[in-house]
Amino acid sequence: MTNAMMDRANEVIAKTYKRFPVVITRGSGCTLWDDAGKRYTDFVAGIAVCNLGHAHPKIAEALSAQAHTLWHVSNLFYSVPQMELAAWLTAHSFADRVFFCNSGAEANEAAIKLARKYFKEAGQGQRFRIISMEQSFHGRTMATLSATGQDKIKHGFDPLLEGFDFAPFDDPAALRAKIGPATAAVMLEPVQGEGGVRCPRPDYLKQVRALCDEAGLLLIFDEIQTGMGRTGKLFAYEHAGVKPDIMTLAKALANGLPMGAMLAREQVAAAFGPGSHASTFGGTPIVSAAALEVCRTMERDGILEHTRQISEYFRSKLEWLKGRHAVIEEVRGVGLLLGMRLATEGEPFVLQCMEQGFLINCVQGNILRFVPPLVISRAEIDALTGCLDGIFSATLEAESKRDQHA
Ligand SMILES: *Cc1c(COP(=O)(O)O)cnc(C)c1O
Repeated sequence: MTNAMMDRANEVIAKTYKRFPVVITRGSGCTLWDDAGKRYTDFVAGIAVCNLGHAHPKIAEALSAQAHTLWHVSNLFYSVPQMELAAWLTAHSFADRVFFCNSGAEANEAAIKLARKYFKEAGQGQRFRIISMEQSFHGRTMATLSATGQDKIKHGFDPLLEGFDFAPFDDPAALRAKIGPATAAVMLEPVQGEGGVRCPRPDYLKQVRALCDEAGLLLIFDEIQTGMGRTGKLFAYEHAGVKPDIMTLAKALANGLPMGAMLAREQVAAAFGPGSHASTFGGTPIVSAAALEVCRTMERDGILEHTRQISEYFRSKLEWLKGRHAVIEEVRGVGLLLGMRLATEGEPFVLQCMEQGFLINCVQGNILRFVPPLVISRAEIDALTGCLDGIFSATLEAESKRDQHA
C-alpha cells in the first residue's frame, strides 16, 4: 500500500519536493503516525507551523463551529472573525493595521508593495530599492525570490524583479554602505531560519533601526518563522526592544491552515487605500476563526512562558550533547527555534532519527534544526536527545573502527 501510494504520488505531483519515504496519516499534539502505525515525535511541526501541536482540540472546535456557520465571504463585506483577529494582532504588536493573505510569500509581497507605494505617495517614487540580507529566505514568488539572499533557489528564474540589494547579515557597517538615494526599506528576519538558525548579536536590530531612522527608510521584519511565540516572545522583535514599520506573519498564525498577514503602523499602512491590494481568500472567516483560537490559546495556556522555560531545558540538553560529541560544533538559536551546527553533513542523522521515531530537519547542509510544537514536553526532549546521543556515539564508533582498518 505505502509503496504503491508513493509511486502514484511521484507520477502525478510536481517534482518540486525531495520527500522522505513516509506517508503521514494522523497527528495529535507533538505526535505523528504513518500509514503503518509507526509513531514519530515531531520536532519539525510542519516547519514551525503547528506551534500548538497537531489536531489541537480547541482549534478543531472553533474550526468546526465556524464550518457550520460561514466559510468564506468576499472582502467586499465585513466579517466578525477577521475583525477580531486583526484587533487581537494590533493590540499585541506595534502595528495599527493588518492586511490578510494566504502565505508567507504573499505577506512579503504585500510588504514590498506597501514599501514602494509609501514612497510613491510621499512624492519620492525614485526610492524603491529594498536591502535584504545574504542567506535570507523570503519566499518563492518572483518578488520574494528576488528579495531572497540565496543563489541556489534563484537559479533558472532570470530575470528577477529589479530593485533588491543585499548586505551581509549581522553587519551594520556593511548595511550602511549599501544604503543609497534609491533605498526605500531594509527587510530582514530577526533570526534567520532557513539560512541556518542564525541569531544576530544582541544590539544588531537596534543598530539597523537607527540606520533606517537616520536615512528615512522603512524597516520590515519578516517574522513568518519567528513570530507567534516561536522565540518565546509573541514576536522576535520584542527581544531586541525595537519596532519595525512593517511585519509579516504566516506559518504558525493559523496553526496549519493557510494564512499570511502583513502588519504596519498607521502612517505607513495609510499608503494602501481601496483597490491598492487585495486577496480573494485573505482573512476568510473560517481561517480567521482558527487563527483567533490560536491567539486565545496562546494566552490562556501560557504558551510563551512554557516556550521560554522548555527552551532553556532543550538548550541545556543540546549543550550536554555537544559536550559529549566533537562532531557538534555549535548550539544556537532562541526559544524553540534551535539549531546544532555539525562538522559533517546532517542528512544521515535526520534519517536515523526518523528510523527511531523522531522527525527533525536539516538546513544549509550541516545544521540540524529543531522547531517542535511549542507545547513539547521535557520527556519528549529527553527522548530525542537520548536518541541523538545514541546515534552520535554509534557513528563515532563506526568511524573510528573504519579508521583502524584503514
Ligand atoms: C517559510 C518562510 C517564508 C515563505 O512562506 P510561504 O508560506 O512558504 O510562502 C518567508 N519567510 C520566512 C522567514 C519563512 O520562514
